[in-house]
Amino acid sequence: MKQKTDSSTALGCFNFCHERQSAMLDLLRRMVEMESPSDNKASLDRMGEFIGREFERVGGKVSFHREQAAGNHLLAEFAGDAGKPVLLLGHFDTVWPMGTLANMPFRIERGRACGPGVYDMKAGITMMIFALEYLRAPGVLNRPVKVLLDSDEEVGSTTGRPLVEATARGCEAVLVLEPSQGPGGFLKTSRKGVGDITVHVHGVASHSGVDFEKGHSAIVELVRQLVEVVKFTDLAHGITVNPGVIQGGTRSNVVAAEAWAEVDLRIARAADAAELEKKFAALRPFDPHCTIELSGGMNRPPMERTEGTVRLFRLAKEVGQTLGVELTESSTGGGSDGNFTSALGVPTLDGLGAVGEGAHATNESIIIEELPRRTAVLAGLIETL
Ligand SMILES: [Zn+2]
Repeated sequence: MKQKTDSSTALGCFNFCHERQSAMLDLLRRMVEMESPSDNKASLDRMGEFIGREFERVGGKVSFHREQAAGNHLLAEFAGDAGKPVLLLGHFDTVWPMGTLANMPFRIERGRACGPGVYDMKAGITMMIFALEYLRAPGVLNRPVKVLLDSDEEVGSTTGRPLVEATARGCEAVLVLEPSQGPGGFLKTSRKGVGDITVHVHGVASHSGVDFEKGHSAIVELVRQLVEVVKFTDLAHGITVNPGVIQGGTRSNVVAAEAWAEVDLRIARAADAAELEKKFAALRPFDPHCTIELSGGMNRPPMERTEGTVRLFRLAKEVGQTLGVELTESSTGGGSDGNFTSALGVPTLDGLGAVGEGAHATNESIIIEELPRRTAVLAGLIETL
């Protein structure tokens, strides 16, 4: 076993990263400049292989979980002295379509690194690589470490989810390198569960001038349904229902035959999922000539603030104090793969990634100064567990 104390690991890693800040930024730049939208397999596979070589360089055993329709997912394993492994979790897909770089290039401005995917979450991947490089240098890790990066987190982890769950089972803890929250860089100890339901109304088309009475408008029916649906929101219990997309009809002089809405659902407690889905299933048409068809449902269970998560947060806070940073916890309505691991009962701490702002927005950026410090928090936490 190592004789080092936790604070010396964190401080040592901080100095290591501080000296290598330009190398960290260079790696980050190379990753941002290799665009990796969730729907482009060729670019995702290139990105995964690039990251895989970095993990190999720092001593990891890298393998890929091959997918036909999505990018291959990446697993890197690091041997350790003893105990159950710690899982570092993240994703290398981004929400940005190919070509975004033309208008939003990687650049450094006023102490920030900016660009598509820089904050969510290529900086988090950079941090993993440098933390492991530091921890590996003196010998073996206290515990084995696994790194899992999937390729479809931004589109619901349809193919990544089974792998995330299988890898997390049997791990001591899961540390998620998704961005921290807000300018204060808060860690995330709870996340809402996320769902998506499409409400599709089929009506009867007719000529609005010649045969108005024969028509049964899908649009009018959908609007009446949505008035009911938004009543499912219950802010006091952390339940929100948002019809975020609405489409339908063909022309203004046609009574619409089809209309549909995509409704986003968020819940704070797993126990509320069934009840909410039941309310949707109970929707009945106001106009008996219209029919309602539902598809979708809950996609990610909530990450609840469990005892195991609180314990991880307290450890992170202690490590932070040795570096002079006061870490705070927060909850968020956004989901991540941490929702899946937490729901399995594996202690999960999220938001350990970069400090910055603008995830999924054109002002996406990270605060460069925080990069070595947050990497040191990660390394210290891995060694404390
Ligand atoms: Zn993310």
